Amino acid sequence: MPPYTLNPSRRTTKYLRITITREGIIKVSKPRHITTPQMEAFLVSKSDWINSTLEKIKSAQTKNPAQPKLTKKDFIRLREIALHLATTKLALFNKHYNFSYKNIVIRNQKTRWGSCSRKGNLNFNYKIALIPEHLADYIIVHELSHLGQFNHSHKFWDLVAETIPNHHELRRELRNIHL
Ligand SMILES: [Zn+2]
Repeated sequence: MPPYTLNPSRRTTKYLRITITREGIIKVSKPRHITTPQMEAFLVSKSDWINSTLEKIKSAQTKNPAQPKLTKKDFIRLREIALHLATTKLALFNKHYNFSYKNIVIRNQKTRWGSCSRKGNLNFNYKIALIPEHLADYIIVHELSHLGQFNHSHKFWDLVAETIPNHHELRRELRNIHL
């Protein structure tokens, strides 16, 4: 039986209850009328469930380790790096495409790497500053290509492939990076 902490019994606790926090800490609430041996027998009877839950938490943590919290200062610095990266790479790849774009904006987004507006503004997630350069290149070319094709048609992917021929592979690689 893995170690657990006992919540101080409160009058309101009616049932013996086991909870496992997202950090994998086992907490037990014991009503007063339940004896310690009864409680331990209950825990043992639930040990399969407890162990499988702990396993799940452990594997989730290795797949997606908790990212350290960024300070406001870190974010501002990363946003500067991302803006510099996007600006120079757009200029470079646009020597090939020759589209015209307006503003380049760096955002803190939870769900996307970049976007392109019909007005020709290009938005990028500040996290392009944290990923391998070849993946940032793909994201930048993807949004740039939307200026030629505002969709995800074959024509769009052909445009992307003009400068990033291995985009299929890169998209797969990018899916393994958690935003
Ligand atoms: Zn797109």
